[in-house]
Amino acid sequence: MSSWSKDDGPILRIERVTVDFFVRTSFFSTKPIHAVTDVSLDVTKGETVALVGESGSGKTTLGRATLHLVPITGGRIIFEGTDVGDLRGKELMSFRQRAQAIFQDPFSSLSPYMRVGQLVEEPLVIHGPKSGSERDQRVIEALEMVKLSPATELIDKYPHTLSGGQRQRVSIARAMILRPDYIVADEPVSMIDASSRAEILYLLSELQERDALTFLYITHDLASARHFADRIAVMYAGRIVELATAPQLVEDAKHPYSQALLAAVPEPDPANRLRSRPVVGGEPPDAGALPAGCAFHPRCPVAIKGTCEVIVPPLIQLSDGHEVACHLYPAAGASYVGGADSAGASDAGGDEGSAEAAAEARSASMTSSAASNPGSAASVKSSQSESIAISGVTP
Ligand code: SF4
Repeated sequence: MSSWSKDDGPILRIERVTVDFFVRTSFFSTKPIHAVTDVSLDVTKGETVALVGESGSGKTTLGRATLHLVPITGGRIIFEGTDVGDLRGKELMSFRQRAQAIFQDPFSSLSPYMRVGQLVEEPLVIHGPKSGSERDQRVIEALEMVKLSPATELIDKYPHTLSGGQRQRVSIARAMILRPDYIVADEPVSMIDASSRAEILYLLSELQERDALTFLYITHDLASARHFADRIAVMYAGRIVELATAPQLVEDAKHPYSQALLAAVPEPDPANRLRSRPVVGGEPPDAGALPAGCAFHPRCPVAIKGTCEVIVPPLIQLSDGHEVACHLYPAAGASYVGGADSAGASDAGGDEGSAEAAAEARSASMTSSAASNPGSAASVKSSQSESIAISGVTP
């Protein structure tokens, strides 16, 4: 464990990172797939930042890029003040030891031919002590740390004899046995049953508190992100479109996409069983042919015609510390870019506060329009985007 403290600055700094993959389209040509585009994010030691978004939003690729597992096309990943792209030899081995991953699927990430003890010991064989007895002791400690007991009985079992929750605990023990500082938890609870999810998240929280771990928590589930994360970054088509503290984002989401994700979170209340919830229609865009301007504009019910399909909105900071990439929210001092015919926009002017209020009024119209039409599928036409519909779903 390193001596890096909060006073030393962010433990992880993602600086304008871009990740492109290239697919061959013919013998002589390739086509770029834009998985992550121009993402910047600072993570403080001991903090949990959740990356939230649909499949294909680039969250897993970004998480892997921070572990130096996928090559980046542009930008830099700085870990404890050092560019991980410059690490070689022993320094790279040391980084691998201190930056670990917990993968989504404990059914495929654990070799079915290895016993639990061997699986947990494997990282130590590469990075840890040479003494077998010392390694055995560390394996028992790691299994007990993740509350798999009696550890002495479990070490001889094969993964297929364990439940999904137990397998994920073995994965966590594998990650924790090297005493890391930074963990990328990639959908760690999405493949296990509901009863074990909360236990695994509580376990991760306990370990974080004990060892001041830093987490990048990757999930499509905003409900778990709001309980586990300190801050939430919402990703869409490879970019961060909103970044805020977890309570801020859940209670006061600004970006239309974040609002749609929140609207889709089921509420465990029988009174809501017949209530329609507004969700955004359409599919995420093809990363090989992203729409011009804001990539969300073909699905956005409040898109500003003439602006959103042309200009990529930058991520700007609002007065409450929220960061959002949407033309509804102009940067401080900039004039409002929307048309005067939209809800609440005509009086926005160039003042940031009133522009934010107007933007929220426009953005809220998406939710209120659908909410005013409960029952069957609600088709909503906003004043700005005639062709985009929000379909209501019944949980
Ligand atoms: Fe994107 Fe425009 Fe909709 Fe904002 S209003 S999310 S910039 S399409």
